[in-house]
Amino acid sequence: MTHALTPDATVTIVGASLAGLRCAEALRADGFAGTITLVGDERHRPYDRPPLSKQFLTGAWDEDRISLVKAEKHDPMGLDLRLGVRATRLDVEGRRVELADGTVLDSDAVVIATGAALRRLPGTEDRLHVHGVRTLDDAAALRDDLASLPPASRVVLIGAGFIGQEVATAAAAAGHRVTILEGADLPLRPIVGEQVARLLLDLHVASGAELRCGVTVTGIAPPAGDARAGSVEIDGADPVPADLIVVGIGVTPSTGWLEGSSLTIDNGVVTDERLIAAPGILAIGDVARFRWLGAGHDERVRIEHWQTAADHGSHAAKVLLAGGPLAPVFAAVPYFWSDQWGKKIQVLGHPGADDDVAVLMAPDEEGRFLVAFHSGAFLTGVLAVSRPRQLMAFRTMLGEGATIDQALAVEL
Ligand SMILES: Cc1cc2nc3c(=O)[nH]c(=O)nc-3n(C[C@H](O)[C@H](O)[C@H](O)COP(=O)(O)OP(=O)(O)OC[C@H]3O[C@@H](n4cnc5c(N)ncnc54)[C@H](O)[C@@H]3O)c2cc1C
Repeated sequence: MTHALTPDATVTIVGASLAGLRCAEALRADGFAGTITLVGDERHRPYDRPPLSKQFLTGAWDEDRISLVKAEKHDPMGLDLRLGVRATRLDVEGRRVELADGTVLDSDAVVIATGAALRRLPGTEDRLHVHGVRTLDDAAALRDDLASLPPASRVVLIGAGFIGQEVATAAAAAGHRVTILEGADLPLRPIVGEQVARLLLDLHVASGAELRCGVTVTGIAPPAGDARAGSVEIDGADPVPADLIVVGIGVTPSTGWLEGSSLTIDNGVVTDERLIAAPGILAIGDVARFRWLGAGHDERVRIEHWQTAADHGSHAAKVLLAGGPLAPVFAAVPYFWSDQWGKKIQVLGHPGADDDVAVLMAPDEEGRFLVAFHSGAFLTGVLAVSRPRQLMAFRTMLGEGATIDQALAVEL
C-alpha cells in the first residue's frame, strides 16, 4: 500500500526529463515541502525532446529554447538535482536507490521516470556519420554533421516512423537527397493500419524523398569510395551508399538498472491504474506500462508520447500526496503530434492498427484530412493531418467513451 506523503517526507525521482520534472513541479505546486531528489544520467538540465528532430535539428531553436527548466521558476522549488549520475539499483522494499557514484538515497517514495533508449543496429555504435536521435547530444551531433555536408548529399534514413520522417524532412529542407528504408510494406501501418497508412503515404509522395518499403536492412558496410558514411546493406538488393545515415528503429524502455529488483518488468515497468508499481514506488512516462482505464479501455499500455509523460508526472504527484487507495486512477486521453513534410499529424486516443476507420473529412487538395478509428461501435481515436481545430472537437468525447455514431454526428 502506498501511504500519503507526510510534510517532511523524501521523494527520489529517477529520470530528470519531462515526466520526472513534471512530477517534481506538481508535488511543489500541490504544497509538498519535503525533500525531492531528482536524479538524471544526462549532464544537461531537463530539456524537451520533440524539438530535437524538428526546430533544434534545423538550427531554428537553440539549447536555451528547449530547456524545460527556467531558473526563475525552478530555483525556488528547492530541488536536490543530481545530474550526470546514473541510478544503478533499486531496493524496492527499502525504497533505496543506489547511484553509480556510490551515493545511496533512502526515500519514502521512489518515482521511476527513466524513459526509453534508442534501439541500435548491432555493430553501428560509435560509427562516424551514423546517428540516432534520442538525446540533446545525439541531436547536436546530427545537426552539426548535417550542416557539414555539401548540398545534395545522400542522407539515408533507416525506419520511416514519426521521428525518422521528421529527420528526413529536415535533411530534405537542407537540400539533400533523402532515401528512407522501411521494413513494413507501408510506413506506420503497424500503428495506424492500412487505410490510414495509405492516406499518410501521400505526404511522402509529395515530399520528393525516395521511400523504399518492405526492405530488410542487415547492416552498414564501412565507408568505401565516395560514400563517407558507408553503405546500408539490404537483404536481396544492392547496398545503398550514404554520406550520412540515421537509424530510427524505435526505442526500448530503460529498465536495465531495475534488473534483480522485485518489480514486474515486461516491456516497461508494470504498474496498476494509479501508476503504482509496488508500495511507495511509481513508474511514469515512456518507461511505464500502466493499466489504462480511460475511454472505456482496460488494457496495459506503454505510451511513448510527450503528453502522456507530462500527464503521468502530475498524476503521480496526486497519487503520492493522496496515498494509494484514495488517489484517482489515470484515465487521461493520450495525444501526440508529429511535424513532417510541412504537415502536422495529430492523434487523440489510442487507436489500434486493426480498428475500423471512418473518414470524417476526406483529403483536400492540400492533403489535410480527419479520420476516426473505431472498434465495433466504440470510438478509439481520431487522427488529423493539419486539421487541429476539428481534431480537438473530439477530445472530451474520447474521454467519455463515445461511439462512432456520435463522432460521425459532430459538425465540423
Ligand atoms: C527526437 C524526439 C522527438 C519526439 N517528438 C515527439 C512529438 O513530436 N510528439 C510527441 O508526442 N512525442 C515526441 N517525442 C516523445 C517524447 O519526447 C517522450 O515521450 C518524452 O520525452 C518521454 O519523457 P520521459 O520523461 O518519460 O522519458 P525521457 O524523456 O526518455 O527521459 C528519461 C530520462 O531518464 C534518464 N535515465 C535513464 N536511465 C537512467 C538511470 N538509470 N539513472 C538516471 N537517469 C536515467 C534518461 O537519460 C533521460 O534523461 C519525441 C522524442 C524524441 C526522442
